[in-house]
Amino acid sequence: MIIRPKIRGFLCVTAHPDGCAANVGEQIDYVRRRPALRDGPRKVLVVGASTGYGLSSRIAAAFGSGAGTLGVYFERPPSSDKPASAGWYNSVAFEHCAREEGLYARSVNGDAFSNEIKQQVVETIARDLGAVDLVIYSLASPRRTHPVTGEVHRSVIKPIGEAFTSRTVDIDKGIIHDVTLEPATPGEVEDTVAVMGGDDWEMWIQALMEGGVLAPGAASVAYSYVGPEMTWPMYHHGTIGRAKADLDERARAIDARMKETGGRALVSVNKAVVTQASSAIPVVPLYIALLFRVMKEKGIHEGCVEQAHRLFADRLYGGDALELDAEGRIRLDDWEMRPDVQDEVRRLWDQVTGENLSSLADIDGYREDFLKLFGFGVPGVDYERDIDPAGEFTGPAERVG
Ligand code: NAD
Repeated sequence: MIIRPKIRGFLCVTAHPDGCAANVGEQIDYVRRRPALRDGPRKVLVVGASTGYGLSSRIAAAFGSGAGTLGVYFERPPSSDKPASAGWYNSVAFEHCAREEGLYARSVNGDAFSNEIKQQVVETIARDLGAVDLVIYSLASPRRTHPVTGEVHRSVIKPIGEAFTSRTVDIDKGIIHDVTLEPATPGEVEDTVAVMGGDDWEMWIQALMEGGVLAPGAASVAYSYVGPEMTWPMYHHGTIGRAKADLDERARAIDARMKETGGRALVSVNKAVVTQASSAIPVVPLYIALLFRVMKEKGIHEGCVEQAHRLFADRLYGGDALELDAEGRIRLDDWEMRPDVQDEVRRLWDQVTGENLSSLADIDGYREDFLKLFGFGVPGVDYERDIDPAGEFTGPAERVG
């Protein structure tokens, strides 16, 4: 089969195994070119390990610190007539490279919100690793089936209180148009907090502690985003922001528990990047395309792997006392939020139209990154190669459930 991109709205429903492998290889090379981490993590659990920030964190831990990694994700394996999801191919490639390097790498493919998957992970750690010293929590999901009530919660991206109208871009067509988001109902706010807040993170830490597989002094980090004021009505002050506030609150409770064994739990506020999760958010892609242009011009552009490596090398395992913001969070969005960067983005935001979009915004960079998420548009990959999507690529983990 010749695999081509099939874009449906903000998603690409196909993925290219060779392109995904090349992307993973590029990230590994980036980490390898940096000095190895002193006293970095040794045994790492990454929840949400197959794409975006979780995948890059796994790569930074494995190839920057020689860590054994256990990854949890929810990805579609291939069938004879349909390619797998990108995260599945990414994980095949990651595990292959990690094992070649002599590193432990296993994955559990299933619903991280469920008790069964947590139990399976606890048993795998106990059997293979003994205990983990770092837990990265990097889930982004549109829904969660609550493991106790069985209720299905769906997250929405909506403002709270009043409707919000803003410009947004249709990346595929290159058109700028207004979008109005109606305010969330109280139930939608609760549902979004249930999916993207800190409840599940707390359950993970609880399960790992009860299973005796969290090493003394272990750290756990969950990812968050704040962003600039122009996106606040829809993000920071909206349903997702409410979920992230819950994450901050839970972090304090989890931190208190982990401190009992000399460990700690932290939220890291990361920068805006193109991932499957962020491309689904209205308004944000236009902001990201402008931000990319400004940060590239200033020579401070970063993607997921640069951020993940900086989190480990300069913050968590940097040796110096960890600098935190007033809310006790790590700020990896420090360069994004620099006043000179934000002033310039705001200036461009006020000027950008459909006509000048490609000259004012890095729309090409955005499109490239978007296609790369699914393994397309990667230099050196033969996209005319006839591929057996299931036959050639044996999976890291069959999907459970
Ligand atoms: P992503 O879509 O690239 O990755 C999500 C991961 O979660 C994947 O590995 C996926 O398989 C996994 N997942 C989803 N549902 C699952 C389930 N039920 N069970 C098991 N695994 C499941 O997302 P991302 O953008 O890397 O986001 C990760 C975190 O980083 C989120 O908390 C997000 O808010 C945060 N963040 C993202 C950005 C950004 O710009 N993308 C910026 C700052 C912070």
